[in-house]
Amino acid sequence: MTTAFTGRCLCGAVSYSVEAEPGVVGDCYCTDCRRTSGTSHCTHAVIPESALTVTGEPTFYERAADSGNVVRRGFCGRCGSAIYSTNLGMPGMAFIRVSSMDDPDRAVPQMTVYASRAPSWAQVNRSYPVFETMPQGGPESVLPET
Ligand SMILES: [Zn+2]
Ligand SMILES: [Zn+2]
Repeated sequence: MTTAFTGRCLCGAVSYSVEAEPGVVGDCYCTDCRRTSGTSHCTHAVIPESALTVTGEPTFYERAADSGNVVRRGFCGRCGSAIYSTNLGMPGMAFIRVSSMDDPDRAVPQMTVYASRAPSWAQVNRSYPVFETMPQGGPESVLPET
């Protein structure tokens, strides 16, 4: 397979290439995403974890989500940039932080989750499906396989 897209942290110590097009892309306004984002939410692109090749050593922070599933957030230990995460309840998938992509226009959001936790000033995009929390079945259940 050929590289579909690439990304890196701010300092360049951690970079990656992905041999798959971004799948479902979603905005998440959960509190944990907000705290790690610098603003009101994170945008994630779902890809098969097997398509991800990481160069460098991300630091991982594990914390249980609402569902009880442990989310493993990978970030650069030097500059702090978020890179990607995995969810132990959704094996085989990785969630690329769109902020780390070299070309963020390659991943256009298609849905919003945890809209109920958005700050009052956040501009939640209502032009695509919006869920107050997480849709049952996870993000990939909402849209056809891409
Ligand atoms: Zn870095
Ligand atoms: Zn979130």
